Amino acid sequence: MTAPVDVSPASATARCVETPIPPAADLSWEAYAGRACYACEKQLTVGAVLVGRAVGRMGAHVLDIDVYACP
Ligand SMILES: [Zn+2]
Repeated sequence: MTAPVDVSPASATARCVETPIPPAADLSWEAYAGRACYACEKQLTVGAVLVGRAVGRMGAHVLDIDVYACP
């Protein structure tokens, strides 16, 4: 007898927006460009949620960037 596996995309992705925003320097290029979720690296197509701003700097350059997560 096997118990049904509860895989709910809604509850799985809800955690992305609650993930603390990493320093901008730690973001992948895709996440930095706003094309991927900063928490799970999933490609974002529609309904991406603007979560906030990753901050950082590299030398004289400010790397602050808006980051998005799964809807
Ligand atoms: Zn995600």
